[in-house]
Amino acid sequence: MKITVLSGGVGGSRFIQGLLRTKGPGDEVTVIANTADDIDLFGLRISPDLDTVMYTLGGGIDRERGWGRTDESWNAKDELATYGIEQAWFGLGDRDLATHLVRTMRLREGRTLSEVTAELCERWQPGVHLLPMTDDSVQTHIGIDRDGARELIHFQEYWIRLRAQVPVQEVVIRGIDDASPAPGVVDAITGADVVVLPPSNPIVSIGPIAAVSGIRAALGATSAPVVGVSPIIGGGAVRGMADQLLTGLGIHISATGVAAHHGARSSGGLLDGWLIDATDEQQTERIESLGITARAVPLWMSDDDTTDQLARDTMDLALTLQDAR
Ligand code: GDP
Ligand code: CA
Repeated sequence: MKITVLSGGVGGSRFIQGLLRTKGPGDEVTVIANTADDIDLFGLRISPDLDTVMYTLGGGIDRERGWGRTDESWNAKDELATYGIEQAWFGLGDRDLATHLVRTMRLREGRTLSEVTAELCERWQPGVHLLPMTDDSVQTHIGIDRDGARELIHFQEYWIRLRAQVPVQEVVIRGIDDASPAPGVVDAITGADVVVLPPSNPIVSIGPIAAVSGIRAALGATSAPVVGVSPIIGGGAVRGMADQLLTGLGIHISATGVAAHHGARSSGGLLDGWLIDATDEQQTERIESLGITARAVPLWMSDDDTTDQLARDTMDLALTLQDAR
């Protein structure tokens, strides 16, 4: 079976770990990662979601933090701060720095992000085909109010420096209209048996991937069922700080709110199926009235066992939808 996952960083990676532990021996997993979080800092190209997926699946992630390398040291970051380099709010550990030097060096040599990702994955062996959503430059910017005036700042600045604690006026995905899917992305969707939207941020992770027009078209055209997992349990984002982002865009913070935002594939949206938490079971009817098949199961990926069960439940719903066709 060919399983294709559209992923952000932490939530997506955790889910994919479960998928890899529970999949059949011949099953192949392709991950299309969000690259709209990418940013250039210190003259380096930083691709947070690609790296989080690669490090997590390759065993190099710092498990406590959820991002960056294990056994990390921070000498370069301290030195940058001592120089008064303002961008030092973004943490790049010493080991992580090497990944960024390789990526930036190769891009300067004229390689594409896809090619660089493949090279980095030769070392990390993530056990999936890891593809950036696009090789073109796409960057999410967040509109905030600064002293009464609208200001657009890079998503990373909003997320890390401001800790997402400032109301969001708008989200602008710069470059998205001119972005083409990276090589292999469209085929991975149209040729898939199952397409999964893991519990990734709907606005800044899944949103940009699905906003690449070629990807959007492929998601509409594929004969595979598209099944998503709610990143919201009860009235809050599970980990992370997505609340301001969702409320700022008028999305209700609930499994139903996110399902309605993505929409049913039968009416031009993204989803055939949507997994919601067992405690949100009462929302099933509302979601199904949108034209999306809903199923209530435990959605907390609190350890390997619960994560694996969520992966099984997701595949289960997908196969049920496939059979129904
Ligand atoms: P990021 O790019 O690192 O922000 O990661 P993602 O976009 O892949 O995922 C972030 C989302 O994962 C957050 O919005 C959380 O709501 C969601 N999330 C994290 N842990 C869990 C979990 O255990 N269960 C569920 N259902 N969602 C989770
Ligand atoms: Ca991200």
